[in-house]
Amino acid sequence: MIGILGGTFDPVHYGHLRPALDCLQGLGLERVSFVPLKVAVHREQPRADAQARLAMLEAAIQGEPGFAVDPRELLRETPSYTYETLMSLRDELGPRRSLCLLIGADAFAGFLSWYRPMEILEMAHLVVMRRPGHDPAEEPALRDLYRARGCEDAAALAALPSGRIQFQDVTQLRISSTRIRQLIAQGKRPRYLLPDPVLDYIERTGLYRAGPGG
Ligand code: ATP
Ligand code: MG
Repeated sequence: MIGILGGTFDPVHYGHLRPALDCLQGLGLERVSFVPLKVAVHREQPRADAQARLAMLEAAIQGEPGFAVDPRELLRETPSYTYETLMSLRDELGPRRSLCLLIGADAFAGFLSWYRPMEILEMAHLVVMRRPGHDPAEEPALRDLYRARGCEDAAALAALPSGRIQFQDVTQLRISSTRIRQLIAQGKRPRYLLPDPVLDYIERTGLYRAGPGG
């Protein structure tokens, strides 16, 4: 069973890394691939360019054998639709391998407005990582979906290639990239919120130093 975690990673921080490791260990995944997106469909454009976000991810996962960086969205010309990413992954993995799309509770809240959400569920399981300040069960439409697709144990997920939704308990870290960008714009070091090699990269290149909203 393979996991993927998509995101802007602008920059990557411990709120991505530790919950991803919790999923790797908790679900018995073979690996978690971090998939940085090029053009954000649901949000404003990233501050750091693709190459910088990729470099920060590579620095962050150094030495963790269960983690990989998958640059496929950065290599594509088209916008970063998760649907297309899963199509290409499915092509590689074949129809039977179990595939888990890891998403934070805030991302899950908007899931039904994504491009082709039900087709996404045809191709992967959804593993929802709890995140401080976000209640994933708030939306009535999502409650119905969860009632139909909910799953509570890793063995059941592993037995199927796709189609189930599981809430995963992960380390609760109140860290966001937005907050890190704000701290840097205010001239404060965001140390201990993200790996030192990522902070080194940011400080060496002067990323996030100026501009509204960090
Ligand atoms: P931004 O503040 O720029 O939106 P972010 O910290 O939310 O950045 P993203 O790159 O948007 O990071 O997140 C990628 C994925 O990781 C999303 O599914 C998001 O919900 C999840 N995620 C991010 N931070 C956390 C966290 N602290 N705990 C759990 N999940 C998280
Ligand atoms: Mg976010």
